[in-house]
Amino acid sequence: MKPIRTVALLALISLLSHEQADAGAPQVRAQAPGFYRMMLGHVEITALLDGTHPFPVHDVMTRNETMPGGERKAVKLAESYPGKAEALLAGSDLSAPVEGSINAFLVNTGEKLILIDSGAGSLYGACCGHLLENLRTSGYKPEQIDEIYLTHLHADHVGGIAPQGKPAFPNAIIRVNQKDLDYWLDAKNENEAPKFLKPMFEGDRASLKPYLEAGRLRPFSEGQELSPGIRAIPTPGHTPGHTSYEISSEGQTLLVWGDLVHVAPIQFPDPAVTVAYDNDPISAEAERMGVFAQSARTASWIAAAHIAFPGIGHVRSVDGRFEWLPANYTTVLNPTRD
Ligand SMILES: [Zn+2]
Ligand SMILES: [Zn+2]
Repeated sequence: MKPIRTVALLALISLLSHEQADAGAPQVRAQAPGFYRMMLGHVEITALLDGTHPFPVHDVMTRNETMPGGERKAVKLAESYPGKAEALLAGSDLSAPVEGSINAFLVNTGEKLILIDSGAGSLYGACCGHLLENLRTSGYKPEQIDEIYLTHLHADHVGGIAPQGKPAFPNAIIRVNQKDLDYWLDAKNENEAPKFLKPMFEGDRASLKPYLEAGRLRPFSEGQELSPGIRAIPTPGHTPGHTSYEISSEGQTLLVWGDLVHVAPIQFPDPAVTVAYDNDPISAEAERMGVFAQSARTASWIAAAHIAFPGIGHVRSVDGRFEWLPANYTTVLNPTRD
């Protein structure tokens, strides 16, 4: 029989440990690091998350409608089809404002390290600008990046090259479509642009400045092969020089398509839905439809800036309607063939 003091001590220890167990471990409340890797033939692709933010569906989404005179024009979706956005989101168990991803993609060809888009840097606030930490966690350093290909000059794609105006990639050359550069660096366009676009012009100037001054900004003309196996494909509408990048290796292709889609659960079932930021909504819809149809036909991989991270998957056509098929998660990056 144990002495009474020992029994009391054991009871106390048991009580304390029970209380600790009841309190539970503190919750971590942080997401996993934002990178996801896949192989495309010999090319290594790393999706990098810059952050997520609530996408203002009701304020931003518009739809191309045919006017009485036959002309097509973008009209606020909430006005032309009240309840449509809500119904489409509900079909994916979502509601507005839906959390949207900002994705960028790192391409390691074995010869060169190329970053496609750069996130928002300091231009979107605390939600975003996490690309650099995710790049480092993924095993690379900013100084290793040789080239940065921008899909277009909106803040959430260009801001990451120079957060707070300081260049984040000391050895990189910036490539961007000449048409976007001409549009966004023109004071006349800035004066004529709607008010909500003004910060984009300011953000572009601040982000591009250090690279321009260092002679490391190299615009390209359309349809050019920028690197062996990587082609710039014009997909204008969202901005005048909006560009998608097609990467090919070993018979596989991946299209980094930029902002052809902002809210997948709405724009796959209804590609006529546009956004207020579209410079030319009619062309934006035409490009989206064209790329959807082609991608469904060729079964090429897609890497999307604003589809839920990692934004990698395929487009499928079912009875004339388009669907997004996210990539199946895998840890196998070097498949061996028997
Ligand atoms: Zn954009
Ligand atoms: Zn964007």
